[in-house]
Amino acid sequence: MSILTLPGLIDPHVHLRDPGQTHKEDFYTGTAAALAGGYTTIIDMPNNKIPIATFERLNEKIAIAKKKIVCDVGFYFGSVGDNIDEFEKVQDKVFGLKLYLNETTGNFLIDKKKLEKIFTAWSSTKIISSQSMPLHSDILSTKKSKPLKNKLPILVHAEEKRVEDVINVVRKIKIHTHFCHISTAYDLKQIIKAKEEGLPVTCGVTPHHLFLTEKDVKKFRPYRQMKPPLSSKKDQVFLWTHLNYIDVIESDHAPHTKEEKEAGPPPFGVPGLETTLPLLLTAVSEKRLTIEDIIRLCYKTPAKIFGIKTDSKTKIDVDLNWKFEIGNLKFHTKCGWSPFNGWRVKGKVERVFIRGTKVFEDGKILVDPGFGRIL
Ligand SMILES: [Zn+2]
Repeated sequence: MSILTLPGLIDPHVHLRDPGQTHKEDFYTGTAAALAGGYTTIIDMPNNKIPIATFERLNEKIAIAKKKIVCDVGFYFGSVGDNIDEFEKVQDKVFGLKLYLNETTGNFLIDKKKLEKIFTAWSSTKIISSQSMPLHSDILSTKKSKPLKNKLPILVHAEEKRVEDVINVVRKIKIHTHFCHISTAYDLKQIIKAKEEGLPVTCGVTPHHLFLTEKDVKKFRPYRQMKPPLSSKKDQVFLWTHLNYIDVIESDHAPHTKEEKEAGPPPFGVPGLETTLPLLLTAVSEKRLTIEDIIRLCYKTPAKIFGIKTDSKTKIDVDLNWKFEIGNLKFHTKCGWSPFNGWRVKGKVERVFIRGTKVFEDGKILVDPGFGRIL
């Protein structure tokens, strides 16, 4: 045994499917999967079956979550440009605004022309409370960046040409913008250029884009289909060699049932909360990554970007030498599978503490639903 204690990890990008699609996941199973994967804080995306695009829907979702969660959970608000009146009302209840510019699960795509209007509206909303305030001046990349007014970030799902569209808007309306799940050299190059220009942008990558390529889709097809799709070996190498330009690793945990994946055409998305840290620890054991990288990408920078308060009694113990095969341990996620089924990994979450309370040990959740806090 070689136990290492790390801070409780933060995953700023999950889809817990609750309410609306609780046959795929719910707030209990999703947050249990988070603990099993070493995450003590997660932020949930708004593309539920009925998108979280009104103050009322957001409050309903929070009320449902409150009774079920076993780790801390925050939320994003969603928009396709027709709910600008709601922006001010939700400012103290969310961690950012999520916009979908490319196809994803759910019919929640944004009209490009509305982009600038949404950016203007979000950036001009007043902050009601100072809770969960991002520390922009700390993270925003280059010396050329001027400190911004405190505003909650905008998060985008944008690929290829859409990345450029967003960067053009950010150049005009300088609000912190986070590019989710960057998967290609082409997209990352555009973001690197924007960072070097001093624009307030950050980006994340997923474990599936770091560890799988388009070639892997053939082997395990429906279970390795997601948006953005797996990319080429060249793209994958570019992500690894430019990790210093990447701000966070986000699981994009997006479960679907086996039946849905098999029935075809499969819905896009894969689970990730329970496998991300073992994969990253395996990369550490292979000297492709350091523990400091994991702390930066899965804790420090997400905490800074999204203004998450951390405390020293929220921590995880990982066994660096424990080898296991993904799929052989019982999953906590309701979907019960992983795109990495069959992979041998080294490094396992032993126990998890939140604010000093032991919440997970030996594969078991030790607290009742509702223990987690709404952030
Ligand atoms: Zn997502």
